[in-house]
Amino acid sequence: MNYVIEPPAPATVAVADSDARFPVRRVFCVGRNYDAHVREMGKNPDRDPPFFFTKPADAVVDSEITIPYPPETENFHYEAELVVAIGKGGFRIDKKDVSKHIFGYACGNDLTRRDLQLAAREAGRPWDWGKGFDLSAPCAPLHRIEDTGELTTGSITLSVNGELKQEADLAQLIWDVNEIVSILSRSIHLQKGDLIYTGTPAGVGPIIPGDVVVVRIEGLTDLVTTIGDPA
Ligand code: MN
Repeated sequence: MNYVIEPPAPATVAVADSDARFPVRRVFCVGRNYDAHVREMGKNPDRDPPFFFTKPADAVVDSEITIPYPPETENFHYEAELVVAIGKGGFRIDKKDVSKHIFGYACGNDLTRRDLQLAAREAGRPWDWGKGFDLSAPCAPLHRIEDTGELTTGSITLSVNGELKQEADLAQLIWDVNEIVSILSRSIHLQKGDLIYTGTPAGVGPIIPGDVVVVRIEGLTDLVTTIGDPA
């Protein structure tokens, strides 16, 4: 192919115990998927169908990287999340077949400009500017599903400077991974390379330059992110 400008390198995620990397095609995120977090955001966890939003693929960033405090916000939040990586595409995937489409799992952080997100929500506008900014999707190395088995339970925690801020269990997901992937695949053709951030537990809050944020999920590699000064 003869391009008129140099095409961008694909966004990628590290793979645990490997030099190879996982190429990222798209990033889907699930909103409001743990009861207590739905309540803290001022909504009713009545098991409405899950809803999705997206981030650019190149918002994904490795663990152990310092992220500059983002522009245009005064209320920058962490959100610990289980990330599911799709290794085999599919359309209208049945719940019982979802595991065949999963490459693996990782600890993720759905970084959020909360003030922009809430202002957009109040105005009935899209969430993009609150969610889909540069470096907004830190992701730790992926663990293959062959090694972890299906992740349906296990603790998920987030700490800031060693202080515990979020603590839940994957079993508390309102919509579990099989349901999320199945439902998402009714709306779009899932493709290999897609990542799904599956929602955050209660306890979200602000972070500032100098903070060190650690997301930990039982059986996976920690995600460590340092917040730096504004760019
Ligand atoms: Mn989230």
